[in-house]
Amino acid sequence: MPVAVIGGGPVGLAAAAHLHAYQQPFVVFEAGSEAGAAVREWGHVRTFSPWRYMVDGAAKSLLESTGWSSPDEDHLPTGHELIDQYVTPLSMHPALRPHVRYNSRVTSVGRKDFDKVRTKGRDQQPFEIRLESGETIEARAVIDASGTWRKPNPAGSGGVGAAGENSHGDRIAYGIPDVAGRERARYAGQRIFVVGSGHSAFNVILDLIALADEAPGTRILWAMRRDNLASVWGGGASDALEARGELGQRAKRAVEAGRIRVLTPYRIRSIANRGGDALSIAGVLGDDDVSVDADQVIVCTGFRPDLEMLREVRLSLDPWLECPTALGPLIDPNEHSCGTVRPHGARELAHPEKDFYVVGMKSYGRAPTFLLATGYEQARSVVAMLAGDVAAAERVELVLPETGVCSTDLAAAAGGCCGGPAPEEANACCVDDAVAKAEGKSGCGCGTSEPALLQIGVRSKT
Ligand SMILES: Cc1cc2nc3c(=O)[nH]c(=O)nc-3n(C[C@H](O)[C@H](O)[C@H](O)COP(=O)(O)OP(=O)(O)OC[C@H]3O[C@@H](n4cnc5c(N)ncnc54)[C@H](O)[C@@H]3O)c2cc1C
Repeated sequence: MPVAVIGGGPVGLAAAAHLHAYQQPFVVFEAGSEAGAAVREWGHVRTFSPWRYMVDGAAKSLLESTGWSSPDEDHLPTGHELIDQYVTPLSMHPALRPHVRYNSRVTSVGRKDFDKVRTKGRDQQPFEIRLESGETIEARAVIDASGTWRKPNPAGSGGVGAAGENSHGDRIAYGIPDVAGRERARYAGQRIFVVGSGHSAFNVILDLIALADEAPGTRILWAMRRDNLASVWGGGASDALEARGELGQRAKRAVEAGRIRVLTPYRIRSIANRGGDALSIAGVLGDDDVSVDADQVIVCTGFRPDLEMLREVRLSLDPWLECPTALGPLIDPNEHSCGTVRPHGARELAHPEKDFYVVGMKSYGRAPTFLLATGYEQARSVVAMLAGDVAAAERVELVLPETGVCSTDLAAAAGGCCGGPAPEEANACCVDDAVAKAEGKSGCGCGTSEPALLQIGVRSKT
């Protein structure tokens, strides 16, 4: 029986390359119509990792055997380039191609004839993989590399959708829409409300600024839940991945130059129809109810793993990150922000269900710091374990580029405003000038360009 790999993204295909190297039969199930279907959706985004971190070792050996040569290792590929120059050629390699099944979404995984409760003889039972089509395939082991792209977090600040959030599909987008390219018509000249404070939000904001330069009337408001803006921008020049550090700094400069208004710390409560084409976003800024009218909302609040399809698998998960229990303390964003993750592999990724592993983006659960280099090392170690090469499985060696931001630096910088000290009279870290003025206080001075301002209504509770 084969090892079943769920997901034909970069990490799922890396697992396939390692399975081939160990001469293990395997089958890859990919929900999309091409390999890397999730990456294709953010294909317009330039990654912050150069090529040298984007190619798996076993995959590289396979590809080089067909005359493929590695792209310039210092170049930062876009998502499209990552697929066209690496993922697709890998998926087409004769060693992988016959074993990758497209348009094959997995809807459930379990043990044949054994529900989750039944123990005796469980480890000897094959896995059963159910596809959306209804087809069932048996496998001796399962590697879930299905990513988290299709499970975005909501705009609601408590992790649950804001009231009404699900009723405006044509006005609310999740992830990183191609606002300056493919979806330009939807956003040009519109009032756009962006939620979130990570790298995805930086990308969207910077693209929207480019759009606003070309399309008059495009206005942007950026809302974040965080109350310490100093922790938002990342490590800048201290980041070992130069482009990752620079992304945050570019967003920071855009805010300081008044290109965008920032509402922080803002907690979204509801999203409702305002009449006409507008949406009304209601939330709380400090102690005040603050509502905003916008035409489009873009939610960049991260992702979470789809655990529903693993309902019948015995999992051991970190209570809040939803990653394997042993991995949680290594990647908890409450504790770690340095990007330094101790090398980990099959041992840390193991679940009570024998021969079942989650690797890649999904292995990090809700933690936001996953890097492909980590996923490739996970895939190598897990496949070695499944092939019985325990020594290779336990020999995990991985040095990740640090973000240049450590929790201790953040604590020292707490209370800052737009990266600098907050004026005493500002009531929050970085209250937008317009809101601060409406409250009779002076803001931080970041965000002063009127044309970019959306209509903000402030109703003091007191
Ligand atoms: C915008 C963006 C930029 C990033 N930039 C970097 C970077 O610079 N450097 C870096 O190291 N990392 C980066 N990452 C993080 C991470 O490396 C990528 O998300 C990477 O694509 C993760 O690879 P993966 O194979 O684990 O998951 P994915 O690429 O998400 O692949 C999962 C695959 O599984 C398929 N699938 C999903 N559900 C099912 C199912 N039920 N059945 C069958 N198939 C399914 C999907 O269609 C998809 O093809 C970035 C992420 C994003 C979103």
